[in-house]
Amino acid sequence: MKYAVDQDACIGCGMCEALCSEVFAIGLDGKAQAVKGSTSDNDLAASEAMASCPVGAISQE
Ligand code: SF4
Repeated sequence: MKYAVDQDACIGCGMCEALCSEVFAIGLDGKAQAVKGSTSDNDLAASEAMASCPVGAISQE
């Protein structure tokens, strides 16, 4: 599954990276990015990260 982070909405809280660092990482600009797609190993964690974003900045592509 591929994910996208709305860079304007992200507040850089780090929740997504804490829940699924294989897919989400905070960049040098302090905003999260989806660095790769999820796999069967981390689909659940990635989807929990999306659901846990406090500002709803993460979407599935
Ligand atoms: S959980 Fe949402 S607001 Fe927090 S860093 Fe990730 S994308 Fe940004």
